[in-house]
Amino acid sequence: MAMLPVAQLYARDIPDLHPPQGADLLQVLWCPFDHPIMPRTALFWRDAASVTDILTTPPEPPAMQFHDYLPKPYLLQPEQVTDYPDHLELSKELRDRLTDWNAWQVTDAANAAMSPVRASFDRAYPSEPPEARERRFSSYLPLYYDNELAGAPGWKVGGWPRWGATDPCPRTCPDCGHAMDALLTIATLEGNADSGWRPYEPSGDQSTGPDAYGPRQPTEVQIGSGYDQQLYVCPASPHHRHLELMH
Ligand SMILES: [Zn+2]
Ligand SMILES: [Zn+2]
Repeated sequence: MAMLPVAQLYARDIPDLHPPQGADLLQVLWCPFDHPIMPRTALFWRDAASVTDILTTPPEPPAMQFHDYLPKPYLLQPEQVTDYPDHLELSKELRDRLTDWNAWQVTDAANAAMSPVRASFDRAYPSEPPEARERRFSSYLPLYYDNELAGAPGWKVGGWPRWGATDPCPRTCPDCGHAMDALLTIATLEGNADSGWRPYEPSGDQSTGPDAYGPRQPTEVQIGSGYDQQLYVCPASPHHRHLELMH
């Protein structure tokens, strides 16, 4: 069965791509059937200058498991962001610091960013005794961190997983046991209602997606019931097998 083109990324556009020596282009393809819960991907690192014989129309397979496995062609507009690991992937010491409200107010900038969060939380629980409200706020802070600072949603190179379908699990190379790096996230959605992450739209245009899907799902790809497929590669060797996780 012919595989489908999913993404084509140039190192010149994406500083975090880190291609192996001699390559400056990554082509990601997949088989549009569940293997066993999502499409199986294939990675091709290439030298863009050597890619000359280009098909104008990519082949479409005669059958697919779901129509959501046929990405809508879309020109990427990459932006550089910083995200952090999910709080469940942090050390016990850092997890404890996340629940400490004082630790969130160490600079003026942090104070300015966090005081509206605190105020709206206090408004939501007006009649709670102060001590109970403080405890509730402490347990809310790691969730706030996960939504607003950890694991940016959407298609991305590098960065951290946004765990939802499962708890965090180790990503180790099947060939050498080395810890793996995130390569690419194939996401169902570019953002969600619980989070302030939004793709940068230079024109302020929110109507780039087709009506049925909307701008939060411009590629029309759906993984599971709205999750992400993240691909990991081994930093020890580009010849080691890559890993696919749904989360
Ligand atoms: Zn297949
Ligand atoms: Zn390896």
